[in-house]
Amino acid sequence: MTGTAAVGELEQALDDIACEMATRTDRGNVATYIPQLGRINAGAFGIAVATHDGQVLTAGDAELTFSIQSISKVFTLTLALGSIGDQLWRRVGREPSGNPFNSIIQLEHENGIPRNPFINAGAIVLADVLLGGHEPREAIGEILRFVQFLTDDDTITIDAAVAASERATGFRNFALANYMKSFGNLHHAPEHSLGVYFHHCAIAMNCRQLALAGRFLANGGTNPATGFSVISAERARRIAALMLTCGHYDGSGDFAFRVGIPGKSGVGGGILGVVPGIASMAVWSPGLNENGNSKLGSIALEMLAKRMNWSIFAP
Ligand code: GLU
Repeated sequence: MTGTAAVGELEQALDDIACEMATRTDRGNVATYIPQLGRINAGAFGIAVATHDGQVLTAGDAELTFSIQSISKVFTLTLALGSIGDQLWRRVGREPSGNPFNSIIQLEHENGIPRNPFINAGAIVLADVLLGGHEPREAIGEILRFVQFLTDDDTITIDAAVAASERATGFRNFALANYMKSFGNLHHAPEHSLGVYFHHCAIAMNCRQLALAGRFLANGGTNPATGFSVISAERARRIAALMLTCGHYDGSGDFAFRVGIPGKSGVGGGILGVVPGIASMAVWSPGLNENGNSKLGSIALEMLAKRMNWSIFAP
């Protein structure tokens, strides 16, 4: 993204999208299965774009924090690959699941190996990898510090009330973890792996921070602001490929079809998107569509990608 004309165009696009989203009445439904998330007002909408040359443009409620939920799985995947490399793929697959994010059926057919790292079972394995024999609180601290490092912002915290609310009602995640333990695919006590999982899902960020945290994925593994290599270019490419194929639960195909960029959503209503070589972006609107993805967030990213010609399939 270079030149003032292009930046002006992007600024205008974000403002137009935020204005249109403010008027929409079809905002989807806020997730209520985690009681603390059910308290969020569905009226919010925020969007932020961090360009590869260091600019951050925002519109709407881009400074309001929300629960990033499953978006955190992008960061735990990055850390788990950093910790055990390609050995991870012996314990987690790389295929879209075509099933809801918390489905247990597939696990039985596939002997306790989750389809991909972004469904709940897969992310619980990532949390188990990150535990690596440490206390849960150390692994949780490592994940939080990684996100703070990516954004250069140590004000980012974990919402303890959301983590507690999820633990209190996370019967299905307990079932997934115990089931995988029975196949030998968790190396720690399920409640410890889940403790890490619930806490990283409860990281609270705003759109601006999240767009900044995703920069390394849009820039070949390097943080463009510091020039620091976070991961190799090959690994960044592969994580982006998984975001494209598996990042929106069983709505991943439709998101690729409509938006055409790698993205990861969370049930808090956020979506992190990356356009390799151009920008990373975050959008937040808490109401979800039938697949559990932000309803207006998906529409907004579709509008933005179309207007800026950002689909990775565009010539
Ligand atoms: N913490 C949530 C759960 O396990 C994450 C769901 C999501 O964002 O996909 O149910």
